[in-house]
Amino acid sequence: MIDYHLHTPRCCHAQGSPREYLAEAELKGLTEIGFSDHFPLGMLGYTPSNQVTMNPEELDLYIRDIKSLKNNSNDVKIKLGIEIDYIPGTEDKVRSLLGQYNFDYVIGSIHFLGDWDFTHPGHADAYQKLNIDKIYREYFDLLGKLCHSKLFDIVGHVDVVKKFGYRPENGLEHYWQEIVQIFKETGMCFELNTAGREAPVGDFYPDRRLLELSCAAGIPVTLGSDAHSPEQVGRYFPEAIELLKSAGYRELTVFENRVKSAVAI
Ligand code: ZN
Ligand code: FE
Ligand code: FE
Ligand code: ZN
Repeated sequence: MIDYHLHTPRCCHAQGSPREYLAEAELKGLTEIGFSDHFPLGMLGYTPSNQVTMNPEELDLYIRDIKSLKNNSNDVKIKLGIEIDYIPGTEDKVRSLLGQYNFDYVIGSIHFLGDWDFTHPGHADAYQKLNIDKIYREYFDLLGKLCHSKLFDIVGHVDVVKKFGYRPENGLEHYWQEIVQIFKETGMCFELNTAGREAPVGDFYPDRRLLELSCAAGIPVTLGSDAHSPEQVGRYFPEAIELLKSAGYRELTVFENRVKSAVAI
C-alpha cells in the first residue's frame, strides 16, 4: 500500500515531523509514501486571508527535509511530491516554477472559488447563502481547466466540493460522465483520498460511482490519506483498497521524476 498525500507542519495547519509520518507508515506496513505539502501560494502572487500553504522561503527547506528523510529510510520508499492550487491565470508561473524543481509528482487541487476557500471550515457558512448547483458547476468547470492545463500529474480530492455535505438537487451523474471524459482526454491520474471520511460529508473523495466509471474508462488511480498529522497516515486504507477493488481496479499508480508506473493491489 502507498500513501501519496502527506503534509508537513510547514503549511502551518499540520502537525508532526516527516520522520513521525514515516514511523506511522512503517507501523501500518506501507511500502511507499509521498509527501505533497501545499506549494507556497505567495510564489503564485496569491495571498488568501488564511495562511494555508508554506511560505515561499520554506520551499527549499521542505525539499531538503524530504530528501534527507529519503536517504535515511530503508524499508519504505519515499517520494517528493507537492500539492499545488490550480488558480486560473497562474498557469505560466506554475509551469516555469515547476521547471526549477525535481518533484516525483505534482498534485493539482482546487481549494478556492474566486477568493472563497470553500474547503476551510471557517468559511463553510457561505454554502448556506449560495446556490449549490452553481457552486458545483463552477467547481467542475475549474476542474476541467486544471486537467487541460497539463501542469499536474494527479487530480487531488476530485469532489472535495462535497466536503460540508451540500449536494446538487439533480445528482452528480452528469458531472461524473463529463469529468471521466476529461481525465481520458488529458491523460490525468486522480487519487482516492480518504480524508473526507472525517469531514462533515463522511465519505472518501471521490464517490464510488466515479471510481467505477473511471476504472471502466482505464483512468489511472492512486491513493492518499491527506494526512495533516502522523496518526492520519494510511487512514481507512484497508477499506479504500476494498472499494478500489470492488470498482474494478487492480493496480495503483506511482511516480518517479514525474513518470508513472503501476503497483498491484
Ligand atoms: Zn492542508
Ligand atoms: Fe487539498
Ligand atoms: Fe492535501
Ligand atoms: Zn488536501
